[in-house]
Formats: sequence, C-alpha cells, structure tokens
Amino acid sequence: MALQINQLCVNCWACEPLCPNTAIYEAKPHFLIDPMKCTECAGDHDDPQCAAICPIEGAIVDDFGVALNPPGSLTGIPPERMARAMAELRSH
Ligand code: SF4
Ligand code: SF4
Repeated sequence: MALQINQLCVNCWACEPLCPNTAIYEAKPHFLIDPMKCTECAGDHDDPQCAAICPIEGAIVDDFGVALNPPGSLTGIPPERMARAMAELRSH
C-alpha cells in the first residue's frame, strides 16, 4: 500500500517535508515515493499528506493508478470543459 508520484510532478517540494515517514525524495526527473516507506499516512493522518498539499492534479496516484487529485478537483474546471478550451486554443 503506497502512493506514487508520476511525471506530472513539477518538483515544487511542497509534499516532501510533510511525509511522516520520510518516504518522499528528490529524484530525476521528478520526486518519488519509496514504496517501502509509504504507509499512505495510515495511523499518522486522516488523509495522505502529500496528496493533500500537491497543487498538481493527477501527479499522485494510488496502487491502481487512480489519481488522488483527479482532473478538475483542484481547479474546479470540469475536465470536459478544460478539454474543449484546450482544443480551441490549439486551433488558433
Ligand atoms: S501518503 Fe503519506 S506516507 Fe505516503 S508518501 Fe504521502 S505523505 Fe508519505
Ligand atoms: S507536491 Fe506534487 S508537484 Fe510538488 S513535489 Fe510533491 S508531487 Fe511534485
């Protein structure tokens, strides 16, 4: 049971100091989580602290690849609307 940081991470450092198990470490090209150390914060906090502070949607996922902050959850912009806006921007 461990979370993972993926390529969407922007290396902002916000999560690293919050981990109760020092499971998060700087790496290239982005931060990583040591799966042997991550407990998903069980016993320390109600929520995984890294996902609670991460400002990037989709950058932290669970064992099944499911994002803890899925698209739209932080921006409040529905994913379909964002996709339409991006398509429109690209067409100009
Ligand atoms: S879920 Fe908790 S234990 Fe796991 S990396 Fe994130 S902050 Fe650390
Ligand atoms: S808070 Fe998110 S974007 Fe920032 S370093 Fe951690 S995983 Fe990467």
